[in-house]
Amino acid sequence: MLIAHMDTVYLKGMLAKQPFRVDGNRAYGLGIGDDKAGVAVILHTVAMLKALNFREYGTLTVLINGDEEISSPAGRNQFSKLGPEQDLVMSHEGSPIANDNLSLATAGIAAVTLK
Ligand SMILES: [Zn+2]
Repeated sequence: MLIAHMDTVYLKGMLAKQPFRVDGNRAYGLGIGDDKAGVAVILHTVAMLKALNFREYGTLTVLINGDEEISSPAGRNQFSKLGPEQDLVMSHEGSPIANDNLSLATAGIAAVTLK
């Protein structure tokens, strides 16, 4: 399963001040690093696998939610349901450090209800 999210943290209107732009082979703009690049990598990957007619996998699931920045209140159930059914889940969340390392764990937030 390939996962990413399409929501960003930026307030409405900020795009006017920092418009999207492409310079050479790089795109710049609000939310590119978190997490539009992740969505783009997944879409291109699936398109390339289809173009190559590559099918050496059982199932390939893509899950892109729109509420990650607020702790996925709606998407959480889908992740919890589909995650355990996979052999591998690859999150396409950008790493803050520009290197080739693969993050195996990352910080998260949790909500608890105290009664
Ligand atoms: Zn993110």
